[in-house]
Amino acid sequence: MKIEILKQAVMDSRDGITISDNCIDDNPLVFVNPAFERMTGYSFEEITNINCRYLQGGDRKQHELEIVHNAIKKGEYCLVTLRNYRKDGTMFWNELSISPIYDENGAVTNFIGIQKDVTPRMIIQQQLRDEHQSLEEMKIHFEQLAIKDGLTGIYNRRFFDTQLEIQCKIACRNGDSLTLAMIDVDHFKSYNDIYGHQAGDEALIRVADSLNKSFQRGSDFAARYGGEEFVILSNGMAKDQAALYVNSLCQGVRNLRIPHTASSTGYLTISIGFSVHTFGPLHPSNVLLVQADKALYLAKERGRDQSFSL
Ligand code: GH3
Ligand code: MG
Ligand code: MG
Repeated sequence: MKIEILKQAVMDSRDGITISDNCIDDNPLVFVNPAFERMTGYSFEEITNINCRYLQGGDRKQHELEIVHNAIKKGEYCLVTLRNYRKDGTMFWNELSISPIYDENGAVTNFIGIQKDVTPRMIIQQQLRDEHQSLEEMKIHFEQLAIKDGLTGIYNRRFFDTQLEIQCKIACRNGDSLTLAMIDVDHFKSYNDIYGHQAGDEALIRVADSLNKSFQRGSDFAARYGGEEFVILSNGMAKDQAALYVNSLCQGVRNLRIPHTASSTGYLTISIGFSVHTFGPLHPSNVLLVQADKALYLAKERGRDQSFSL
């Protein structure tokens, strides 16, 4: 093939083509084709006889640059995508391949660089990554919405119901004990009447927060059961331990010192009914609920701001 035809192919190529001279110090460019000039905004005269690292501007901390440096050092081929900068300072993504040319003694005399502006492709890839990430975030958000209470941020009734079944099955299998505490805010109707619904909401958030901070074990949790009622499920406690624990819950809410003029203590308080069961095979989960509910009723009857167990 005639050398003129090969030359024409290089000059007409839509990809930037460069040749650097590895025999000269710092491997300067000795040839660039018109596509390279168009892509970078630099003319042949401006950039020949210098190393092409000026295309990186000040953006030198790119992982793929190390790949290029290693390939040049070893005299090997490499393909990378770099952030490069045109003469006017605008950034473009340059998909660059470099290939070594050897002389008859096996020494690298030149590197041929083929450069392609892949900015549109990189932008679309980035958009897809961003979209994927926001979809993931939305998925987590909706998963949380499904199991968390909108007002207080603690678990909701739905989560509690499914967990109660699961924890009971595990406790049956292992012969473990489970404690269920049913918690109800005292005189909350009058609290709303005196301080307003908004203040009522804020008080519920503070009570929920206090309950939610009360346990250390990973499997224990508090949930909003409905209205001004909460539940806590905890495993592995004996009845006397459970009694101390639920008393500390009453104390915790009392210590919030939320003023409530209609309460005998002068502060917002809670009542708790709790039940503790050591599970054998086939122990039904609703026994815990029914007994805790009955105990709560009795705690109210006995004067509120206290816990009770049957
Ligand atoms: P008791 O000591 O016997 O529990 O009396 P109580 O007034 O707390 O009982 P009752 O069940 O009559 O009242 C519960 C009140 O809780 C009624 C309702 O307005 C209020 N409530 C329920 N859910 C919410 C809520 O999300 N926000 C607010 N602010 N109030 C709520
Ligand atoms: Mg109630
Ligand atoms: Mg109440």
